[in-house]
Amino acid sequence: MDYLVLVNRDNLLSKTYIPNNLVNSLSIYRDNIMIDNKVKRMFSLMKLDALKHGYEIDIMSGYRSYKYQDNIYNRLIRDKGFNYAFRHIAPPGASEHQTGLAVDVCVYRNNKCYIEYEICNFDEIVWLHKNAHKYGFILRYPEGMEEVTGYNYEPWHFRYVGNIASYLYFNKLTLEEYINLSKK
Ligand SMILES: [Zn+2]
Repeated sequence: MDYLVLVNRDNLLSKTYIPNNLVNSLSIYRDNIMIDNKVKRMFSLMKLDALKHGYEIDIMSGYRSYKYQDNIYNRLIRDKGFNYAFRHIAPPGASEHQTGLAVDVCVYRNNKCYIEYEICNFDEIVWLHKNAHKYGFILRYPEGMEEVTGYNYEPWHFRYVGNIASYLYFNKLTLEEYINLSKK
């Protein structure tokens, strides 16, 4: 598995790409959220660490197939128009959820689940933004980097990249910037 694979609007995955080491994440959010085996292990360690601070997190979205992305993308175009859909959701092949290496995090407080922009300023998310790199994850779509990543700020979307996560974190680099730099 190439943990540095770059997937965005300019670097698409093929219709037939399915990662070969998907496992059940055992998330309590819902049944059968699949993710890469290594990502599952690292997320579990991070989750335990978070719990020590009293923070309860889990995975609300992991692997998404090309077909699934195609469906939600086209539904959003139908409901809200092309411009809205283009800005808010990845077209099929452009979502790194298809790699099995991306996770959307949800937060539990008193058995209630919070997601997406609700958790923006939560202590749990602030903690994650600072500590995820220790487990090989980066905040994939940081605030103010929309031009580089092609996506709006998503405080809940983390991407497993392995050992280089801390380097990216301390140098405030997106995956796009890192890959461009390493090409030079
Ligand atoms: Zn996501």
